[in-house]
Amino acid sequence: MTGNPISPTIPFDQDGIHHGFLRLPYSRDDSAWGSVMIPITVVRNGDGPTALLTGGNHGDEYEGPIALQELAATLKPEGIRGRVIIVPALNHPAFLAGSRTSPIDQGNLNRSFPGKPDGTVTQKIAHFVDTVLIPMADIVLDFHSGGKTLNFVPFAAAHVLENKDQQAACVAAMQAFNAPYSATMLEIDSVGMLDTAVEQKGKVFVTTELGGGGTATARSIGIAKKGARNLLKHAGILSGGLELSSTITLDMPDGDCFVFCEHSGMIDPVIDLGDEIAEGEVIARVWQTERTGAAPIEYRAKRSGILMARHFPGLVKMGDCLAVVAKVV
Ligand SMILES: [Zn+2]
Repeated sequence: MTGNPISPTIPFDQDGIHHGFLRLPYSRDDSAWGSVMIPITVVRNGDGPTALLTGGNHGDEYEGPIALQELAATLKPEGIRGRVIIVPALNHPAFLAGSRTSPIDQGNLNRSFPGKPDGTVTQKIAHFVDTVLIPMADIVLDFHSGGKTLNFVPFAAAHVLENKDQQAACVAAMQAFNAPYSATMLEIDSVGMLDTAVEQKGKVFVTTELGGGGTATARSIGIAKKGARNLLKHAGILSGGLELSSTITLDMPDGDCFVFCEHSGMIDPVIDLGDEIAEGEVIARVWQTERTGAAPIEYRAKRSGILMARHFPGLVKMGDCLAVVAKVV
């Protein structure tokens, strides 16, 4: 017993395909004995590996939810070996609100791990994932993209890990996902992330950043759909060969990748996503919004590479992540 109040409405250990919910009691003004209902699909066919595929960890990122809705609607038990657990919108209240964090408790699910069984709604979801879903899985894919405030070149990522065998397994799975870019990722803020919770349990983990701006494109959705199926093939759950295209390998060696804004204003991008830049060159200028006649502030790359991510909205605030420059390997 984990003490977590979430009860699944479908079994995890029966063959076939089951669509249901993770039901989390949530008593509130408009529903005294109400629940948060997180959609889940479990597909199982005999013994074999288990893959956990999640999207909507942040509620304003759409490639994962779309690709996983499609997978849940089309995967056939007879087409797999083992088990696939699909949760397209893990922070479902945030997903319904179209926001990064939960409108119930302002919780950022990907900063809430390992969670608390007696905490907020978001902490309870994290705790269920940490104590029930992740332990069942051999391989975990958690889809992300930039949400409303960031935009990324489409990449799959693995992290630098102390256990080099585990890191190699994660890198192999990332390569099987086969996004147009493949990154060894440095997190600026890894505490509380699902990523860390999975990796600490010794599992194979792949994450993505497939676009952003609070929407998805035909191209970014295609990358997500292909990547999920490739990952299941790599895990031995789906049969068939991998569908592979060329990928550009990126590295984020240190904090010099990140450029943070120290002004408020309007962004005047000098380069676009995927463009090359040399150390010291201007990435973007920030114009004052309150007056004319003042020179813009120039923001420069602290290392050479390509523009991997940028602030998405036209206005930027002090402290926002303005740009990320990654090294091409
Ligand atoms: Zn995210």
